[in-house]
Formats: sequence, C-alpha cells, structure tokens
Amino acid sequence: MPVIRATRYHDISCGHRVVDHEGTCQHLHGHNYRVHFHCEADALDHLGRIIDFGVIKSTLCQWLEDNWDHRMMLWKSDPYLTSLLLIDPSIVTVPFNPTAENIAAHLLTVVGPQVLPPTVRLVRVVVDETRKCSCEAVI
Ligand SMILES: [Zn+2]
Repeated sequence: MPVIRATRYHDISCGHRVVDHEGTCQHLHGHNYRVHFHCEADALDHLGRIIDFGVIKSTLCQWLEDNWDHRMMLWKSDPYLTSLLLIDPSIVTVPFNPTAENIAAHLLTVVGPQVLPPTVRLVRVVVDETRKCSCEAVI
C-alpha cells in the first residue's frame, strides 16, 4: 500500500515580528501566508478517503481563520507585547518567537491533534511566508 496523503492549503494575512532578528524582521510587519496541511490515516474510509477535503477546511483552515487571520501575532515574551496590547487587545500571543519554522511546528504538533478527527494525523505542515520562502515541519 503506498503512502497516501490528503493535502489542502489555506491563505491568511497575519502580522508578526521576530524578536532579536538581525535585520528588518525585527520590525512589526506582516505576510500573506499560505499554509499547506498534509494528512494521513492508518486506513482509507469506506469511500476511499484519508479525510474529506471539506473536513480539513472546517477544522485546520477554520482554526487559522478564527485564531490568526488578520491578527498581529507576537511571542508572549516579546518586550513590545505589554505596550502593544494597550493599543490593540486583539493581538494574538503565542508561546514561541513567530518564525515560519515555529509557526509550522506549532500547527503540526499542537493545533493538528486538537482539531482533527482521531483517525487522521497531520504529518506535514508547510508555511509559505512569501512566494520565495517557506518552512516545513514534518513528523
Ligand atoms: Zn516576517
């Protein structure tokens, strides 16, 4: 049996900054992220699917919409955080410096297991930060 994966991507716009970055990424800025979700299961369902693409949309993609889309994402240890929260309480805090690497790893290891059906595993997440640059986390 070949390895079969179901994949769907979703686009969000999100602000961030990378604390202690050597260059311009230390500044508040944002990206139009494209996030690719790759799912596997031990067996196909009775129709021959890993997961319905609509379920990827209603779980993983919707999680992005609800939590990160059109928000500013800052590390909980970002020294700017306290001041910026006074200006914009909708800022999202995350337990990591929000690089594309850490974003991919968080989606793979924390979000995927929370929102997917128990028979489905998120095995790879690719985060395109720009059209040229992406990072992936793989189990
Ligand atoms: Zn950036």
